[in-house]
Amino acid sequence: MELGIGFAVGIFAGAVVSVIVALIIAVSRRAIKTSAKTRIVEMKAIADAAAQSAASDAAPEPPAPGTGQKPEGTRRQPGRNTIVVGAIEQRDQQLNKSIQEVRDLLLQLATVISATESASGEAADSFSTARRAIRNLGDVAASSELAEAQRVLVEEIDRVIRSNAKLHTELDRANQGIAEQRRQIEELRVQARIDGLTRIPNRSAFDERLAEYISLLARANLTFSLLLLDVDFFKRVNDVYGHVNGDRVLRGVAARISDAVRQNDFAARYGGEEFAVIFPATDVKDAYQVADRLRQDIAKTNFRLDDQVVKMTISGGLAQCRPGMTAEHIVQEADAALYQAKDVGRNRILIAGANKPERADEGAK
Ligand code: GH3
Ligand code: MG
Ligand code: MG
Repeated sequence: MELGIGFAVGIFAGAVVSVIVALIIAVSRRAIKTSAKTRIVEMKAIADAAAQSAASDAAPEPPAPGTGQKPEGTRRQPGRNTIVVGAIEQRDQQLNKSIQEVRDLLLQLATVISATESASGEAADSFSTARRAIRNLGDVAASSELAEAQRVLVEEIDRVIRSNAKLHTELDRANQGIAEQRRQIEELRVQARIDGLTRIPNRSAFDERLAEYISLLARANLTFSLLLLDVDFFKRVNDVYGHVNGDRVLRGVAARISDAVRQNDFAARYGGEEFAVIFPATDVKDAYQVADRLRQDIAKTNFRLDDQVVKMTISGGLAQCRPGMTAEHIVQEADAALYQAKDVGRNRILIAGANKPERADEGAK
């Protein structure tokens, strides 16, 4: 009788543990840390060993009819139809040990799961009830108690399965919501750095990029040049053609700037009718070539307003960033050169600190 209960407990514990292990992996896959995974592997090994041990002894051959003995001529197979008392005790001890170990491991695993944030309260409650039932397995003395423990476990497991399915649905829905919110935030983030009128990067984007290049210079000694541009006599455009047309011209100027700079250069609207270009890994002489080509390009452009054509020029100040310079410092240098360009006649690019203003073109105006 005791042996029968021992076998049953062994098989039952093995099966229950396997089911619970599978459930626990499903419910708390993300929550269970390495320690819990180790426990699961250990539990599986113990459950397998318990099931194997029980299976190897669970199906004794039937005795020969009428004799209660094995049939004549059949070779004796120790451990199958021959029951040795010492072996029974040993096997019972093994089973009890297995149950004890499984119980301990379940208790440890339950503690880990309860401690994790992502295990839902419902799943954790279910598990702790199952845990209590498993704990009682060690004290099972009668098959009715075993059946009751099994009933409780099955009920709890069902509840965990339902709870798990519900959690998965809610998790899927939450994940979809999060993904959509992420997309919207990213969209807003991009939009927040685009100028509404000209559709090129705005002042925030410029400040951010400038700070990046300043720190790159400090870390990797990678120089860059900064160009500040200002549309000449833009107020007149507004005065003569109106603000709406002024906006159209401004959009046209921004488009020319964006098109003219190289792929790695960064052009932004600095504010009003002022623009900025960062030339990464470029000294001021090379940046000047690009900047002056741009200036010439704009001077040649016909900005069309319905049936009228408007000609525009720009002035610019160029500065190269040196180690130790702050963002404010380099902007001030470029701005001073721009101011000088305006001062000496506009439609030109000047380099900060150059002894003699570099006149790019005596040109337009
Ligand atoms: P300067 O050559 O000295 O730069 O002359 P300016 O007329 O360009 O300079 P000023 O600072 O006197 O005028 C700038 C004008 O740019 C005034 C302002 O109304 C106009 N402006 C700034 N932002 C916008 C804009 O978004 N749309 C329009 N239409 N006009 C703008
Ligand atoms: Mg201005
Ligand atoms: Mg201007």
